[in-house]
Amino acid sequence: MKVYDHQLEVPGLRMTKQRKEVYRALMENADHPTASQLFDNLKNSQESMSLATVYNCLEALVEHGAIKQVNVDREPTRYCQNSAQHGHFHDQSTGTIHDINFKSGINLIDILDLPEGTEISSLEITLKGTLPS
Ligand SMILES: [Zn+2]
Repeated sequence: MKVYDHQLEVPGLRMTKQRKEVYRALMENADHPTASQLFDNLKNSQESMSLATVYNCLEALVEHGAIKQVNVDREPTRYCQNSAQHGHFHDQSTGTIHDINFKSGINLIDILDLPEGTEISSLEITLKGTLPS
């Protein structure tokens, strides 16, 4: 997947060269990589940076809502570049994390018994199990 520079803008965040490179690396890796996997991906780029810098860039991108963190058990945090609303399915037999879309017309809030007037600022759904092979 080719990611162009203009796709690497994040409202409200100053996109330094390093942030751009980290964002690009994540956009090109839809497998929900960890920070160290992204660090490995970036080793071959001109922009050399430390693992700590990769973490800092990811943190800034998460804070500005450009990317999402995915936490499964006590494994290292993984990162998701899919900005559409979706859930995650952790396949325990392969360790793979898949994006799952909500069925159209279904509003997840409607199936939860919440007090009236509740305001939700974020909603995450992560399922664990095995997919049919
Ligand atoms: Zn995802």
